[in-house]
Amino acid sequence: MKRKENYASKHIGKKIMRLTILRWIASEDRCAKVEAECECGVIKTYTLSTILNGVTGSCGCYRKEQARKACTKHDLHHHPLKHIWRAMLDRCYQTNHKQYHNYGGRGVVVCEEWKNSFPSFYDWCVNNGWQKGLQIDKDIVPKKLGVEAKLYCPEYCSFVTRKENMRERTNSHFLTHEGMTFCISEWAERKGIKYATIIGRLEKGWSVEAALNTPILSNDRIVDYNGELVKILDLCERIGINSNTFRGRLCRGWAVDRIMNTPARKHNKRTA
Ligand SMILES: [Zn+2]
Repeated sequence: MKRKENYASKHIGKKIMRLTILRWIASEDRCAKVEAECECGVIKTYTLSTILNGVTGSCGCYRKEQARKACTKHDLHHHPLKHIWRAMLDRCYQTNHKQYHNYGGRGVVVCEEWKNSFPSFYDWCVNNGWQKGLQIDKDIVPKKLGVEAKLYCPEYCSFVTRKENMRERTNSHFLTHEGMTFCISEWAERKGIKYATIIGRLEKGWSVEAALNTPILSNDRIVDYNGELVKILDLCERIGINSNTFRGRLCRGWAVDRIMNTPARKHNKRTA
């Protein structure tokens, strides 16, 4: 007993990693026991040798901290907001980004706090109504305040659905295509496509390219079916196929013959 006490007392007051050895504890155990205080304030009894040889460096708080850090880092890395943050920075600072001309190219920037720290952007988002599926908007709040919308920052941003965002963008933005920039009504006139059709396509997530260049197929369009010239609507009635399905297939480049001989799938959605 005395031997263990003597051995332990030499180490009283030593700090090893997070543990400060306070006093020897008498025990029946073969190993010397000591009481030690962790940096976090927890006082527990330890086997002295495990502290001295570095097996135990804290009350357990160190390992918990590391686990939490690893977990948070991992979660945030794959969090959908990470993509939103990255895309926001790319629109403003990557000159080769396809939307750069509407953002960085027009002087839109991200505030220093968000630009330099994803966690601070993340914190703001989760505390300000972000939910999966919502997009970040920088125009609505400034518009209400009557200021220019050229900054992504906590004061000006809000969250909107994709549809709201598209409406906002198409109201306030021009479309640039083939090196020319016009407002949507001007494009509608130039392309012979209705204004509402272009907006509708953009709201569905079509690219500007597809929204402006995909021709309108009316049901009156005449097609060649094995040498017979027939209106789309008449052909559809003949085989009992939905005209949306027919036109969708035609848009995707199907031959008329194939369209006529392929039964419509249930819930066939036009995706062109
Ligand atoms: Zn501790």
